[in-house]
Amino acid sequence: QKCVIKSEKGAKGKHMKRKNAWEKYNENERKEIFRFCEDYRKFISECKTERECVEALTAKAEANGYRNLNDVITSGEKLQAGDKVYAVNMKKMLALFQIGTEAFENGMNILGGHIDSPRLDLKQNPLYESDSLALLETHYYGGVKKYQWVARPMALHGIVVKKDGTSINVSIGEKDDEPVVGVSDLLIHLAAKQMDKKGARVVEGEDLNILIGSIPLEGEETEPVKANILKILKEKYDMEEADFQSAELEAVPAGPARDYGLDSSMIIGYGQDDRVCSYPSAEAMFAVKDPARTCVCLLVDKEEIGSVGATGMHSRFFENTVAEVMNCMGAYSELGVRRALGRSCVLSSDVSAAFDPNYPSVMEKNNCAYFCKGLTFNKYTGARGKSGSNDANPEYIAKLRNILDAKEISYQTSELGKVDEGGGGTIAYILANYGMEVIDSGIAVQNMHAPYEVTSKVDIYEARRAYEAFLLEMK
Ligand code: MN
Ligand code: MN
Repeated sequence: QKCVIKSEKGAKGKHMKRKNAWEKYNENERKEIFRFCEDYRKFISECKTERECVEALTAKAEANGYRNLNDVITSGEKLQAGDKVYAVNMKKMLALFQIGTEAFENGMNILGGHIDSPRLDLKQNPLYESDSLALLETHYYGGVKKYQWVARPMALHGIVVKKDGTSINVSIGEKDDEPVVGVSDLLIHLAAKQMDKKGARVVEGEDLNILIGSIPLEGEETEPVKANILKILKEKYDMEEADFQSAELEAVPAGPARDYGLDSSMIIGYGQDDRVCSYPSAEAMFAVKDPARTCVCLLVDKEEIGSVGATGMHSRFFENTVAEVMNCMGAYSELGVRRALGRSCVLSSDVSAAFDPNYPSVMEKNNCAYFCKGLTFNKYTGARGKSGSNDANPEYIAKLRNILDAKEISYQTSELGKVDEGGGGTIAYILANYGMEVIDSGIAVQNMHAPYEVTSKVDIYEARRAYEAFLLEMK
């Protein structure tokens, strides 16, 4: 309320110039930024699938005093202000609740994000032998430039569920002593025809086959290399070829995220869309104490393919969970649930495109996101005349400005590229269907949807601060 961004006081024509957020911080404060981002770097190095994110964040939630909502329901215990619970949907979607002192039906402050990322999924019948090599068929997930996913070390993550219900966790290619796999690319020497193709066809979807073996099994006449891979899978995971049918295996870039830039001011790593928003959202939840309004962090799956399915934002999971939480408080009614949803405020966090000096032509410089300028707000996303977008209300944006300026938290406003240059979508419009106040917010990313995406550490830190301020102060 009292403080305005310093640069806004500037002379005419300069008032929207945003300060570089690093300039706000002294040496000690910068150490804290690096410390927080080192935890984030480790998180995205270890959690590369939605399941791994849910597992790690659930453990962290429990360590921070959150209890499984199912246990509360079973015990018949009554929830009250200050209580913290979590709900997991099919191991791929997570909702954290911290009950506020105000009536639940006055609405929640919700941080939303997604934990699925583009990758190569194995098909249901993936394994085959061709010309004495064993390969795996894939179907890419989400929007990718397919030519970026070849000629690089990949790891396999996921689960195999056997007919008796036993579930086997698979992770190959992350430890130093483990092999990696990958998709080959055509050598430049023979690529004259390939290089003339349009970018979308340089590497075709059906050619994203993963090479996984070349040693034949001794004494095996037919497909001996494939037989040898099956033998290894049997020994390592006790799985048969048919078990691939009930498996969910994802090929992702192998290895940890790294500090980026000689000043280590950025992070390069896989799947930062949208774990770079999801992680600080969860961390802000863990930091919040005694909120007035009930605080929620909702991390969803399937955003990259349209938020569909039981674990996507379109599912009824969140609505049903709100009803369960209110019921555990003795505050359930059909109308109460509708009011709680309709009176909620949301920061729907998803990454935005960072201005890239290598590709300035797709950006309109007055309305695009930059590294080091803090949390990015997109009033609307969409494409071709804002189509498909949630368009946040100015009344709501004014409240956000007020909260963030008072704490000198850096933020910026942006569009995803120039008008008619392309576009994007998030989960914002789905939550907005309940009548909530929703705005797209998030962290600027370079190389979005590439195997390695780049973010700015100070932006991650500012987002974390902004999320906490929002949880505590939005009303
Ligand atoms: Mn995305
Ligand atoms: Mn995203």
